[in-house]
Amino acid sequence: MALSKHANETNKSQNNAINTIKRESASLTIHGLPRYEEKIGEEYMNESQRNHFRAILKAWRQELMEEVDRTVNHMQDEAANFPAPADRATQEEEFSIELRTRDRERKLIKKIDRTLIRVDDNDYGFCDQCGVDIGVRRLEARPTANLCVDCKTLDEIKEKQITGG
Ligand SMILES: [Zn+2]
Repeated sequence: MALSKHANETNKSQNNAINTIKRESASLTIHGLPRYEEKIGEEYMNESQRNHFRAILKAWRQELMEEVDRTVNHMQDEAANFPAPADRATQEEEFSIELRTRDRERKLIKKIDRTLIRVDDNDYGFCDQCGVDIGVRRLEARPTANLCVDCKTLDEIKEKQITGG
């Protein structure tokens, strides 16, 4: 009996530790959405997981769209200011940086769109190379990831060998 009491107390303190971790992780949001709490024995990429990632991808997409709008508006405002010739070079440089950023954001939006289609097709969350589960936590960190950590690492090593970097 004494042993089981001890075991209970150990369990209690473990549960407390788990609760602390849960509280801390609950405060971390992904594009404004709470992290997914996996239930024990839950099937990977079931409907509620797919809905979770669909919501994350859409929220992220929305953020990017707003950012693109801000960049365009900012450039229009700046261009309307008729800067002195000396400032023009600086402004052009600024614009080219902003255009590159916009281009990157546009590409990312397209990637998100492609990923959303995969969610709908039930083809999301599995490694394109080896077929293994990419995992909820990794996908929350990189919602457009299409490779598992191992394949991604291997890919990066191969790339370094090719480029000699
Ligand atoms: Zn893989």
